[in-house]
Amino acid sequence: MLIKLRKKGIAVSSPILVLLLLILGITLFNGYLLTKSLKTSIYKDAFLVNKLGQIRGSVQRYAKLKLQHISADFVKAQIENDFNIIDELAKNGYFPKEKESQFKYLYNKVRHSWNELKNENDCDAILILSEKCWEEADKLTSYTARVSEYKNNLLLKKVSYITLITAILILFIIFFVYFMIKKGLEKEKIIDPLTKLYNRRHFIENFNYFIDLYERYKRPFSIIFLDIDNFKKINDTYGHQKGDEILINLSKHIMQMLRNTDLAFRYGGEEIVIILPETELYEAFQIAERLRQSIKEKIQIKSKPVTVSMGVGTYKGEGMFSFIERVDEAVYRAKRAGKDKVIISQ
Ligand code: GH3
Ligand code: MG
Ligand code: MG
Repeated sequence: MLIKLRKKGIAVSSPILVLLLLILGITLFNGYLLTKSLKTSIYKDAFLVNKLGQIRGSVQRYAKLKLQHISADFVKAQIENDFNIIDELAKNGYFPKEKESQFKYLYNKVRHSWNELKNENDCDAILILSEKCWEEADKLTSYTARVSEYKNNLLLKKVSYITLITAILILFIIFFVYFMIKKGLEKEKIIDPLTKLYNRRHFIENFNYFIDLYERYKRPFSIIFLDIDNFKKINDTYGHQKGDEILINLSKHIMQMLRNTDLAFRYGGEEIVIILPETELYEAFQIAERLRQSIKEKIQIKSKPVTVSMGVGTYKGEGMFSFIERVDEAVYRAKRAGKDKVIISQ
C-alpha cells in the first residue's frame, strides 16, 4: 500500500511517514524504559539500605531493653521480619554477580551475630554481641549503599549506550527520509503529474543529449510526434475528467508498447513526443504505425476508438528547433489528410 500525500508539490509517501513514526516510537519507548528502570532501581536500593539501617538501630534497641529487663519481643519480631524482607528482596539476581558473594558474606555474618544475640541472656555477653552485631550491620549497610551507587553507575552507562545507539538509529532514519524526499523531488522535476510521462523540460535536456551523440558519433535517432485527434470534442462531449482518463490510459499504453530504451514525453496538452534512440526512419515509421493501430484498438471511449495522428522524422543535423518544426509539420499533414495517420517527414 502506498498512500501519497501531496503538499505544495512535495510527495510524502507512506514509508517516510512510517519511518517518522518509528523515530517517535523509539524515542518514547526508550524514554519510558529508562525512566521505569531507573525509578525501580533507585526505589528498591533506597528501601534495602533503609531496612538494613533499621536492623542496625533495632539491634541496639533490643540490647538496651534486654539489659533493662524489659520485654524486647516486639523488637525481636520486627528484626526477624526485616531479615525476611531483605531475604526476599536480595534474591533473584538483585545484586550484580560480582557483588553478590560479598553481600551474602556480610549479611550472613550479621544474621549469625543476631542469632547469637537473640539467644543470649547474660548481660555482659549481650553488650558485646550487640556491639558486634551493630558493627557488622553497619558494614553491611555501607557496603549495600556502595553497591547501589555501583549499580546506578552501571545503569547510567547502559543509558548512555542506549542513547547513543538510538541517536545513531535516528540519524540513519533521518538520512534515509532525506534521501527519499530528495529522490522524490528530483523525480517530480522531470515527471508530468497527470500522465506520469517525462515532462517537456526533460524532453529538451534529453533531446540535446541525442543531438550531441549524433554530432560526435553520428548515432542516429528518430522522433515520433503524436497528437490526439478531436480531443477538444472528447472533452466537450464526455467532460474534462474523461478527457484526463483518456490521456492517462493512452500514456500507459504507449509506455507498455515502447522498448526500454525509448523515451516518451508529454510535450503539450494532448501532444506526446517519443525519442527512439539508434532508430532509422523506416523502423521509426513501423513503430509509429504499430502504435497508431494498437491505440485505436485499445483506447476507446463509450466503445468509440480514440485515434491519433503522428509525424515521424529522423534527425539530419539541422538543429533542435528546425527538426521539431519539420516533424510537427508532418503531424499537420496527417491531420489535413483526414487524421488517424502516420506521416513521414523526409
Ligand atoms: P485535432 O484533431 O486537430 O488535434 O483537434 P483537437 O481538438 O485535438 O485539438 P485542439 O488543439 O483544438 O484541442 C486540444 C484540446 O486538448 C484543447 C484542450 O482543452 C485539451 N486539453 C489540453 N490539455 C488537457 C488536459 O490535461 N486534460 C484534458 N482533459 N484536456 C486537455
Ligand atoms: Mg494539439
Ligand atoms: Mg489534438
